[in-house]
Parts: sequence; structure tokens; C-alpha cells
Amino acid sequence: MEYETVIGLEIHAQLKTESKIFCGCSTKFGAPPNHNTCPVCLGMPGVLPVLNRKVVEYTLSMALATHCTIAPFSRFARKNYFYPDLPKGYQISQYELPLSEHGYVDIRTKEGVRRVGITRIHMEEDAGKLIHDERKNVSYVDFNRTGVPLIEIVTEPDLRSAEEAATFTRNLRAMLQYLEICDGNMEEGSLRCDANISIRPKGSRELGVKTEIKNMNSFRFVQRALEYEAERQREILEDGGTIVQETRLWDSAKNATFSMRTKEYAHDYRYFPDPDLVPLAIPQEWIEQIRASLPELPEQKKERFVREYGIPEADAEVLTSSRAMADYYESCVRLFPQAKTVSNWIMTELLRELKKDEREIEDCPMTPEALTGLLRLIEDRTISGKIAKGVFEEMYREGRSALEVVEEKGLRQVTDEGQIRAVIRQVLEAHPKEVVDYRGGKEKLLGFFVGQVMKATQGKANPRMVNQLLREELNRE
Ligand SMILES: [Zn+2]
Repeated sequence: MEYETVIGLEIHAQLKTESKIFCGCSTKFGAPPNHNTCPVCLGMPGVLPVLNRKVVEYTLSMALATHCTIAPFSRFARKNYFYPDLPKGYQISQYELPLSEHGYVDIRTKEGVRRVGITRIHMEEDAGKLIHDERKNVSYVDFNRTGVPLIEIVTEPDLRSAEEAATFTRNLRAMLQYLEICDGNMEEGSLRCDANISIRPKGSRELGVKTEIKNMNSFRFVQRALEYEAERQREILEDGGTIVQETRLWDSAKNATFSMRTKEYAHDYRYFPDPDLVPLAIPQEWIEQIRASLPELPEQKKERFVREYGIPEADAEVLTSSRAMADYYESCVRLFPQAKTVSNWIMTELLRELKKDEREIEDCPMTPEALTGLLRLIEDRTISGKIAKGVFEEMYREGRSALEVVEEKGLRQVTDEGQIRAVIRQVLEAHPKEVVDYRGGKEKLLGFFVGQVMKATQGKANPRMVNQLLREELNRE
């Protein structure tokens, strides 16, 4: 039987505000443990939370960017559970009346554009962090993260493969970064992705029993974990077994998911409206003001790149995949206004090196000035395009300028006509038989002669001149 995978995601994004969601404590990462705390985020008796306006503004911007409807009336709810990193014994979240609902994000898949429904986007606070010291067999708690603002983005079960889930998460991260409301760092936990996944016979409309997968802290792990889980479920069903609804953790070292606990249900948390916080009524003018100030988003930027720079859509798609990448490209084009040439070098040479090092464009060792410096040397024929690729690698690895590498290695292109002609004559003399054959009509031997000349000049002869002068010499009887 053929199965179809059904995936819905829950993505938590940490908002880049200066202070926490309900108190004035700093959200800065890396402070000494329990440094960024106060009676409010420590859950002391008698304190009252005050909502951070910036959190609402940031959440609204993401909600509008994903075409969500903003609720005219929403409120916070308490999600009750005990854990040592949660001093109040409840997390302030939103439940039955979230800030926004019913949006969508379009992603590009192998089968074309897929519209992924956004069920809701709501605000909540983060919990603290436990640090386990296994040598002393004790655990410490750090409340610095307690009360750091999060948005939770919940999708409809509209994704049909692990690959689509990874693509969607990438797109969503790009949007958060374009909006400058979340740094999107999955390794540091500022973007966390959980997935609900089930499988069903292809063509069926009923949903299968789902499992929830947690702990996928990179795009690669999102894809690998979900591929693994879909396969695990398929094997169980094919053996006549049943899927248990449960929460499973991804173990990237073992390349497998394993059971963490049976799935909890919403009613287990005894949600109720938080009596300490007033409901939210967002004025329409505020919504319109935020809508008007939304920056150019990935989709719009992509369209503009195609229009303004005349590059193919596939190029524009890659170049707008993150705001940093788009900025890098545009910096290069400003310095060297040949949009397609710049795009080619970024898409092939630069991305290949970055991928090899598992680096993001933000950590690229080559500045736009350096890259365009190299392109200028090709343009003014100081070096050939072929030599430039070797120079590029050197520049990338050693952080040097193109000119430095070219001068040090003596890579300047030979454009002196007399010098090239002399080499050509030597080559023709060394291959009398091929010369006769060429003159007898075997014209494709030209390629052979070009190769010999380039070899004799260590690739430094200007290829166009070599071609032209070779023809002249060969056609001379
Ligand atoms: Zn505080």
C-alpha cells in the first residue's frame, strides 16, 4: 500500500525585544545565571505582570506578514503544570482567544506552490533552564530565560513530506529575520520546531494517529527526524501494528526518534484566563500602522530581484532565502553592477564553499568588496575566468584580496600578442601532423591547439586572443 505523510508544525520563535514579556528584565543571552530576574519573573507572591507593548507589535507584524486575521479581542491564559524551571507553576500563554488566526504561507515544492495554513499565532512566555551537573549529581536552575517573549506559530496539517516541512521552516525563519523580530538561531534555541506527524493510505481523507516530535534543532534534523518517523510509522502499520499517540524526541547522534512520554492533552493543563492581565483589544489604527511599516518580505524581494536585476527566478529564490544573503548580493551589485555575473559567482563558487564549511552567509569570510574585486580583475582581463576560480578559493580560505593572490602567484593574464604568437608557433611546430590535418579540413583540432597553448602558458594566456591568433596562424599557408 502507498502511504502519504501528513505533517503540522508548532514553531516557537524567541522575540528580539530588549526586555521580557511581563517585566523589565533584560533578555540578553549569556548573562550570569539568575542575573536577569526580578520578583515578577521569579513568580513571587503579590506581583503583577505588565504586558510589553513591543511583544504585541512584533507578534502583529508576523501575523500580518502571514495573512492572519487579528482578533479584535484576545486574552492570556494560564497553562498549569509543574516543572522546576517554571517558578509560578504555570506558563502565561494564550489559549481559546489567541491574538491571530487563519493565515497562510506559500512554499515552493517539487509539485509547485503549496499553501500552508497558519492555524494561529499567539504570544507566550518562555520557561527557565535546568543545568544538570552529572559529576556532582545535582541540578541547577537558571531563571534568566523565564519570561523571555515567544510567539508560537501553529500550522494546519498541510505539509506532505519531511522535505516540505524543512522548506517551510526555512521560509518562516527568513520571514522572522526579514521582520527583524527573531534572530532565527536554531542551535541557540531562538527558533524551536516541533512537529505532529502521521501517515495514511494515499487518497484517504481521514488522519492517522499522530506522534509529536521534539528536539529538532536544525533544518537538517527537522528533515531527518521526520523522514525517520514516517518510515517508522509505515513499518509498524505494514506489520499490522498500531501507532501510539505520544511525544518522541529526536536523537541526532543515534539518528532515531525515541519515546519520551505519552502525549498530553490540552485539558491536562487546566487552562483558564489569566486574572492578572486585562484582555487585549487592538485598535484598528495600530494594525494599519504596522501593516504599512512592514519591510519588503522574501516573496516581494524575490519579485523585485527578477524585475530589477533581470536574473532568473531560480537565482532570485536562492538569493532572497535570507535577508543577510539578499543584502550581500545587493552590496555586490552596487559595487559591480553586472547582476547576473554576481549572481553566478554567489550561487556556484560562494555557496559551494559555505556549504562545505557549514557556514551561513553571515559568517562568510569574503566581503562583497573582496568578491567584486575579483570580478573586476576578470572584467579588465587581468586574469581569465578559469584562473579566477582558483584565486577565489585562495581568497576564501586566506581572507586575502584578489590582487594580492594574483600578484603573489604571478597569475596575471598574458595579453601580449607577440608573446602569445610565439607560444603558438612553438606549439604548431611541435605538432606538424595535426597542422596538416587541420589544414586538410579537420577543423575541430582547433580545440586541441587551444589546449596546448593554454597548457604551455599555465592557463594564463587570454583565451579569446589565443583563439583568434591560432586561426590566423593556422590559416596562413
Ligand atoms: Zn523580571
